[in-house]
Amino acid sequence: MTESFNVVVVGSGPGGYAAAIRCAQKGASVAIVEKDLVGGTCLNNGCVPSKALLASAHTLLMAKNAAMMGIDIPTYSANWSNIQKRKDAIVSGFRKGLTGLIRANKIKMIQGRGIVTGPNKLVVENDSTQLEVEADKIILATGSKSVEIPAIPCNGTNIITSKEALELKQIPQSMVIIGGGVIGCELACVYSTMGTKVTIIEALSRLIPMEDEWVGRILSREFRKLGIESLTSQKVISTEPTDGLVKVTLEDGQTIQAEKVLVGVGRKAICDKETIDNLGLAMNGSAVAINNKMETNVKGVYAIGDVVGTTYLAHGGFAEAEIAADNATGHDAEMCDYSLIPRAVYTFPEIASVGKSEETCQKEGIDVSVGRSFFKANGRSVGHNETVGEIRVVRNKANEKIIGITMVGSAVTELISAARALIGSNEKITDITFPHPTVSEVLKEAWEDAFKISLHTPPSV
Ligand SMILES: Cc1cc2nc3c(=O)[nH]c(=O)nc-3n(C[C@H](O)[C@H](O)[C@H](O)COP(=O)(O)OP(=O)(O)OC[C@H]3O[C@@H](n4cnc5c(N)ncnc54)[C@H](O)[C@@H]3O)c2cc1C
Repeated sequence: MTESFNVVVVGSGPGGYAAAIRCAQKGASVAIVEKDLVGGTCLNNGCVPSKALLASAHTLLMAKNAAMMGIDIPTYSANWSNIQKRKDAIVSGFRKGLTGLIRANKIKMIQGRGIVTGPNKLVVENDSTQLEVEADKIILATGSKSVEIPAIPCNGTNIITSKEALELKQIPQSMVIIGGGVIGCELACVYSTMGTKVTIIEALSRLIPMEDEWVGRILSREFRKLGIESLTSQKVISTEPTDGLVKVTLEDGQTIQAEKVLVGVGRKAICDKETIDNLGLAMNGSAVAINNKMETNVKGVYAIGDVVGTTYLAHGGFAEAEIAADNATGHDAEMCDYSLIPRAVYTFPEIASVGKSEETCQKEGIDVSVGRSFFKANGRSVGHNETVGEIRVVRNKANEKIIGITMVGSAVTELISAARALIGSNEKITDITFPHPTVSEVLKEAWEDAFKISLHTPPSV
């Protein structure tokens, strides 16, 4: 029997389920094909479980620092098994919620591997059964996988990816993390706070290399305080499991023994080879090539999220889902400037940015003025004992517009959406009142400083 829908979405991660719900809201009959757990990487092995573990680690850090706030907590310790149970309960709760939401939107959930056989046809393989499905429009949202290093094969036990790192049964004594990007740095915060001796090996010259140099500098300094060692401009050339430990050899001959090695060197788009071949999909390396309407080279077939390799962020997938859903249901929409999709790193301290970085402006020859403000000068932040970091606001001198904002500090991932709303706006910062005392006043001060009108910065002599 063949089932027919207006739109079939392959993959139920943030890209896939968001596109499906939007299409359903616009009146389309919709099915999602999912071969694994509903919610994709984000819900099951990514954003949600990693943030749950980070929250437990942050609570432990607060207990450690409580004496500084005048609070005596005589004994406290991490109960890893309960931390894991809490994380699993959060994930399964959201999975249940998402399943209900999909059902409430009258979207048909089809379990199995979806292979696109033609512009309007799919087969869904599930164990021994095969279901044929027809669709006016198809949206590919098949996600990504961890990048592997051929010389350092993961074995799932002591040489692991982020997936296993989120599910360890015990807190390891030591861990080498290969890759100082977002995933490596976040998991370094979790495990070092729990007592693991963490060493990060990063091939480039700084942590979080996609942000400006000063960001990585602050992070390395704060990581040292947490006991995390960051070896930058260093490459791992081999790993060798010996006597229950793994011997990690670096390019300069140095060796490190660790109980676990986490390979966290990025994500890579995945789309089934059969689908690529059957459709003759144009590719950009492993990613499906798309235009700014999220259309592939095949009429009626769209692609969104990690499989298009644009942001590798859940909210990047959400944004692309809106565009694909509009276009697949007869409307006309185009993707925004990708630099306006905020970037967020949930380390201790957090990092968040939107728009152009200072280094990008320099490369593009844009003449800018940079406003700065520091958390240590903010009343609320000092009260919270969270004084690390600063906010920088980049102003384009040619047109007086704000074109980029970068933040390092506690909870800045919550502040970046407000900053995004201000980019390119014609609002005068002096006309916007920020409540006092709030951490957000650091944004106002940095903004004012970009125009050299900051109230609390002494005049330069
Ligand atoms: C440890 C970690 C932490 C992260 N933290 C964050 C964060 O804090 N913030 C953030 O924005 N991003 C984060 N990410 C990235 C985020 O998880 C991804 O960007 C996001 O999940 C991508 O969404 P997607 O819908 O494109 O793909 P996915 O979420 O990967 O979903 C793809 C789905 O498609 C299914 N699928 C694939 N092929 C088929 C097929 N042929 N048939 C049927 N189903 C198929 C898969 O089973 C999967 O469920 C993190 C990632 C990791 C690994």
